[in-house]
Amino acid sequence: MGSSTCIADNVKRVRDSIAEATLRSGRSPGEITLVAASKTQSADSIRQAIAAGVDATGENRVQEMLGKHAQGAYSGAPLHFIGNIQSNKAARIVGVCDLIESVDSTALVSQIGRKAVSLGITQKILIEVNVAGEPQKSGILPGRISEILELAAQTEGIKVLGLMAIPPISVKNDENCNYFDVMYQLYIDISEKKYDNVSMQVLSMGMSDSYTDALLAGSNMVRIGTAIFGRR
Ligand SMILES: *Cc1c(COP(=O)(O)O)cnc(C)c1O
Repeated sequence: MGSSTCIADNVKRVRDSIAEATLRSGRSPGEITLVAASKTQSADSIRQAIAAGVDATGENRVQEMLGKHAQGAYSGAPLHFIGNIQSNKAARIVGVCDLIESVDSTALVSQIGRKAVSLGITQKILIEVNVAGEPQKSGILPGRISEILELAAQTEGIKVLGLMAIPPISVKNDENCNYFDVMYQLYIDISEKKYDNVSMQVLSMGMSDSYTDALLAGSNMVRIGTAIFGRR
């Protein structure tokens, strides 16, 4: 019982900070989607976060997500996939997730499109960008985003709604800000181009320790784990 109050309080605190940062950036808090990053959290904790009013939940691991999905953990809020996608598992999340945020290759676009067509649905996706070009990190390099967009334009069953990024952790907050600004500019540049099956409306960036800066830079979707559920 105690933890339920705690999750609800945490969601309220996060909402308040989101509102403050959003107003400072000249927007309205209602434009921001709060995604509870719920990896390792129990179905019960996730239900508490949804009851407390998060807009969506986000999971990282396919097996874990399908297990909790079967327990009804996500009912009442859209489910996002935010983790690294192994190509042999991509098909399993299509149709289960409302938004797949972590699509970072042309191969994944094709696989997801094929599965979506076979299910008779359109799968909404974001393109994950490796904005700092960090080796070992998931995400497509900024210079190669257009390859994905061009393929998406010819792929049935896919709708690209925007970009997602996990900029590198830096000691100084200012350093993050720079990558957030780079992402915002990419988002704007792509919005001005015209591709079929692409409708830029989501810029997903900002986590527990960085969402204020991300929002000030123009993010409209934040993925928050620790600040809602406590330390993993
Ligand atoms: C875990 C995770 C988050 C949330 O991280 P916190 O620092 O706990 O808020 C956001 N995005 C992704 C992709 C994650 O894996």
